[in-house]
Amino acid sequence: MSTASTAAPSRIQSDLFINGEFVKAEGGATAPTHNPHDNSVITEVASAGKADVDKAVTAATEAFPKWAALSAAERGRYLLRLADLIEERGHELATLESLDTGHPMRDTTRLDVPRAAMTFRYFGGMADKFEGAVIPVEQGFLNYTLRQPVGVVGQIVPWNFPLMFTSWKMGPALAAGNTLVLKPAALTPLSSLRIAELMAEVGIPKGVVNILPGPGSSIGQYMAEHPGIAKISFTGSTDVGRRIVQASAGNLKRVGLELGGKGANIVFADANLPAAIGGSAFAIFHNQGQACIAGSRLILHESIADEFLEKFITLARSIRIGNPLDPATEMGPLTSLGHRDKVLGYCEIAAEQGGKILTGGKPPQDRPDLANGYYVQPTVVQARPQDRVSCEEVFGPFVVVSTFKTDEEALQIANGVEYGLGGGLWTTNLARAHKFAGAIKSGMVWINCYKRVNAASPFGGVGSSGYGREMGFEAMHQYTEVKSVWVNVDANIPPYYPR
Ligand code: NAD
Repeated sequence: MSTASTAAPSRIQSDLFINGEFVKAEGGATAPTHNPHDNSVITEVASAGKADVDKAVTAATEAFPKWAALSAAERGRYLLRLADLIEERGHELATLESLDTGHPMRDTTRLDVPRAAMTFRYFGGMADKFEGAVIPVEQGFLNYTLRQPVGVVGQIVPWNFPLMFTSWKMGPALAAGNTLVLKPAALTPLSSLRIAELMAEVGIPKGVVNILPGPGSSIGQYMAEHPGIAKISFTGSTDVGRRIVQASAGNLKRVGLELGGKGANIVFADANLPAAIGGSAFAIFHNQGQACIAGSRLILHESIADEFLEKFITLARSIRIGNPLDPATEMGPLTSLGHRDKVLGYCEIAAEQGGKILTGGKPPQDRPDLANGYYVQPTVVQARPQDRVSCEEVFGPFVVVSTFKTDEEALQIANGVEYGLGGGLWTTNLARAHKFAGAIKSGMVWINCYKRVNAASPFGGVGSSGYGREMGFEAMHQYTEVKSVWVNVDANIPPYYPR
């Protein structure tokens, strides 16, 4: 272990944030949040119930007219100040996120926190640059479009990147003039509550942002049903996404769904192998594989498969597993005990169907310091494309390997699952790269890289990975209604019923 501090932050916010104040849940319910490194309780967090959702929706509804009427530049300034504050408090935020999720400090420091700041800054800058259009219609008429906020937005985020997803959801919604109620996952509420504190510090008006940790099956479902919420933006599993669509039917909510994935990562015979090996390891092992866009299916050309696998497995075995608060750690624990058990269960499922565990498949051995944590070794499994482990989302440090002979076969394997979120390919052949970029069924494709994200670039999927896009101008479209306005400027309209 490195000698640097692994101390937890000294002060942790654990109350709900409603109408600009931190409050206990109605009825006083709380739920513990655990440190995945050792299963200890970090703190008890207020757990919202339906009455709290009602209060938050009322606060957001009352705040909406004033917030929407602010100039776009003023709204943007709040987000720009928030981005600065996130950077100033970067170390503390990174520590909190690592403590709550198990995500290593080296990643929360260099990826999650800067990306959260980047996102708020991007949408802060976007607020007054997002325009309607003038449409060239028949002579004598002016037709233009207004982009208007949809109203109160409900946002539901998962536990794998809570800080980053909080910024992805809040940034565009607020820039566009909406007010919001955000529900972090019950497992990982701490960084979203810290963002609420920073929101209060930059002076965001009361009621514009409300944050309610609590159980998804009750209050998440209730938010999806709530008649006072005009849109639900959901990031999470495909099963819950389906439930949200059903629950939203009452008031025909707009719904945005960022769901599961089973990313294809294809390595062609002409690839730069060292780059492909390193990039593919990042694609699956970053955040312990708990990423919707993880490159969880490694599809290798048969001519390079042996060499690739030998080096890839050596790299996987060398990844430093440990306490996420230790800056030397490269891979931390999974975020919950239940999820650790689910991932280990997939090792048994692989074996039952004839799959071969090439490395990993267990908690780390001979590491008493990690014995109470939710750790799993980097795991590489050889399996057939039709096996369950090749089709279902494992969401852990678990990559399935298969091989192909021809480009057609590679594409067939890549497109052979219900998901279509992100996928990657490694080749030095430009024509092949672009051909596959077009042909892979997914919302995002990375060529000779993997898992790049940027606040300016649309993020989302197709098929069972959901619909709608976050980030960039696309996100602003999702958080606004377009209104078409017709003006008779110089048209002589003959009477339709001449008398
Ligand atoms: P989950 O679906 O169990 O939970 C996600 C959120 O929904 C949580 O806040 C949870 O409390 C809430 N929830 C649970 N039941 C609900 C219900 N009936 N109604 C409303 N809300 C409910 O997912 P998870 O296990 O937290 O996250 C992992 C999943 O998220 C994986 O499938 C992963 O691929 C997906 N994910 C997708 C993206 C993306 O952008 N496409 C990003 C990250 C994670």
